[in-house]
Amino acid sequence: MALPVAEWRGRTARLWAALDSALRARLAAASLHDAVRLGCDLLRTEEEEEAALVRLCHRAATDKKPEAASWYREQGNREFKRGQYQAALRLYSKAASHEIPGSPELSVCFANRSAALLHLGHFEVCLEDIARAESHGYPDRLLPKVLLRKAECLLCLGRLQDAQEILRVLESKFALDGVMTTHLTRLKKLSQLKVKLGEKERCPEPAQEARGGIQGEPEIWEENNRISGASSSLSLGFDAERGRHLVASQDIVPGQSLVKEEAFVSVLCPGESLPLQDGGTAWDTRATNADLHCHRCLRQLLASVPCQGCSYAKYCSQDCADLAWQQYHRTECSLGALLLTLGVFCHVALRTVLLAGFAEVSRLVAWSHRGDKSLQCPEASCKPLSEAADAGAGSRGVPGCDSSGRYQSSYQALFHLLPHTEQHSPEHKFLCSLSVVAICKQLQAAGLEAAVLSQESPQQQSKPKPCENTSDELSPELKTVAEAMLRHVLQLQCNAQAITVMQELGPGDGAVVDKKPVRLATAFFPVLSLLNHSCCPNTSMSFSGTAATVRASQPISSGQEVLHCYGPHWCRMRVAERQQLLRQYFFECRCPACLEELESGVKSVVSIRNSFCCPKCQAQMQGEEDTLCCSNEACATSASRNHLSGRLQDLQQQIKKALGMLRVGKADQAIKMLLKCQMDAGTFLSPEHLLMGEMEDHLAQVYATLGKWQEAARHLKKSIEIVEMHHGPSSVETGHELFKLAQILFNGFAVSEALSTIQRAEGILSVHFGPQNAQIQELQEMKACLSELPRNILQRT
Ligand SMILES: [Zn+2]
Ligand SMILES: [Zn+2]
Ligand SMILES: [Zn+2]
Ligand SMILES: [Zn+2]
Repeated sequence: MALPVAEWRGRTARLWAALDSALRARLAAASLHDAVRLGCDLLRTEEEEEAALVRLCHRAATDKKPEAASWYREQGNREFKRGQYQAALRLYSKAASHEIPGSPELSVCFANRSAALLHLGHFEVCLEDIARAESHGYPDRLLPKVLLRKAECLLCLGRLQDAQEILRVLESKFALDGVMTTHLTRLKKLSQLKVKLGEKERCPEPAQEARGGIQGEPEIWEENNRISGASSSLSLGFDAERGRHLVASQDIVPGQSLVKEEAFVSVLCPGESLPLQDGGTAWDTRATNADLHCHRCLRQLLASVPCQGCSYAKYCSQDCADLAWQQYHRTECSLGALLLTLGVFCHVALRTVLLAGFAEVSRLVAWSHRGDKSLQCPEASCKPLSEAADAGAGSRGVPGCDSSGRYQSSYQALFHLLPHTEQHSPEHKFLCSLSVVAICKQLQAAGLEAAVLSQESPQQQSKPKPCENTSDELSPELKTVAEAMLRHVLQLQCNAQAITVMQELGPGDGAVVDKKPVRLATAFFPVLSLLNHSCCPNTSMSFSGTAATVRASQPISSGQEVLHCYGPHWCRMRVAERQQLLRQYFFECRCPACLEELESGVKSVVSIRNSFCCPKCQAQMQGEEDTLCCSNEACATSASRNHLSGRLQDLQQQIKKALGMLRVGKADQAIKMLLKCQMDAGTFLSPEHLLMGEMEDHLAQVYATLGKWQEAARHLKKSIEIVEMHHGPSSVETGHELFKLAQILFNGFAVSEALSTIQRAEGILSVHFGPQNAQIQELQEMKACLSELPRNILQRT
């Protein structure tokens, strides 16, 4: 997903292999500047490659297709009739994204969607959709229908006068048209609404109490005056070994915010089911990231506003749509398919240069050429650029700082993130060069060069001019753009930050909500990029929209480096797997966990806890070879590793089946299957194996759906024991499990235990996510609710 699709990677790999060795050597040693020039020459002579790319793009088409629109709308109507309003809502949104702007069909889409929204109780959003329908030329003969809906909505919102006004309009309309049979049902509805209105006017409901009255304590936050977005308790360090890094300049307590940064640029990851299968008429009804989140601010979508030009980009509001259009989407819109084909990294690279503006891009590219000359030896260029860098280095010689020595979340800081040009494989550089050149060529062919170079003001949204430059050669300006983009694609390998959110699993209507972190977008955060990696970090990161917050997850004393885990955490992987994964960042981790495991030969907790046990005596099985032996010498049982791994896979299959049963409402069968799985697992997995914990968690889930709270709590507590053992008692993972336990105890009226669990969950989650987090708010609401219970209930428990 980050990289181009497999077919394009394969083609460029074959092309690379077929190049003569002199050219390969030249490319391998080429600077970014030369790599782009060579890429241009190659794509010009290899017309076949370009044609292949065009074919690949057809599978990820992002243009509007009215035939898809009507198909989605019919599917939506079908779901609507079945009372599946949530599904209908999503399908109408998909339909709307394919309709031509200003067409009556689009207004019908919005009107249909407003009906689903009314049923779901989203009255404000329903009114917005009705307004959209009206502004897109809703057919006059159908107008009474939406006006009635509007009146109903206003009534539900308590806006009685507005509702009355609408009803008056309707009455005069009906009077004008004369009573037609089609209007009869509507007249009936009208009189019903009028009765309701009269009732409401006689006894107005008390004004709704403002919800969410429980506010977390405000956080103490003082910004650093040398690093934007960082806390004043940090300082920026710089040395040859660690590069730039952040150090605590005073003692820090767990939960304290250390960095709050808005992404310089972010691009929504399209999600699983893209691109669509080729040439099928069966359109995809699944909802992906691209359907569920705003393409600009990443907020969750209810009733999306589609882009005017493509079927891909969807926004939370017209404001977001307009801003995105001005800032980057007017250039990206017609390139949608190409960007999906070439992957998120290329897309981030393009959006980065669009946001930075051509003036800044060309200034820094020109500066980097001067830097290249002063850094001839490859040894030096893998280290941060030195003080020789006039435009880049600040007063203290830290790269990326501005002239006053301040480090800001700016394009200049982003430009200084290390591209590691010499360390990437030449094949990879070749793939990236061809990909960015392909994008720039299409920009030129689509007449978008002026937009890229910011020569047009955003207001002048003139139609792109057809290509004036008829030659195949990229203009010098676009070559500069391509060079910057190549730099950014290479930087992303080490500096891409995933923006993740906790997404609900399953239908989300159960009493206990299960959530999993999902990757939403890929972004550049210049300040976060200052944090080095550790497999046992002292911080925790969370996201809200496109903003990231880093908090201390443990006490950090003054002088200690502040570290963040890039992914491979010591609780989740063995040292060999971690070092393998970290190779993409071009460094060897020397964190305490790695040193301990590597040097003293200490076995990682992962391998001890996730080990097999002896089928006869339950002792741990040992050995690195294909045959494992029981660690109990008296037992001397041996077993083949393959055989045990096979049993593990079978077990995982069985668990999946059991969860499938639960999804179709066969809870009793799911319990039977899970209990059988547990029995089976006990004969060959260590009791601390993560899968043992997962089974307990699933059992808790099933019992909760049946309302058997005590059983659910019993199983969940066993799961928590294992999660604590693996991830630690104050880890996010333990926090989430405790949150679930709190919900179960709350539902089961186990008041005092619920209260203590709420307190523990709150303590852990607020360290990782801060007091404003939605889960914390929910815990506090539960607490408030429990404390309002009559005393006699409280005493009984
Ligand atoms: Zn938005
Ligand atoms: Zn678009
Ligand atoms: Zn490590
Ligand atoms: Zn044994």
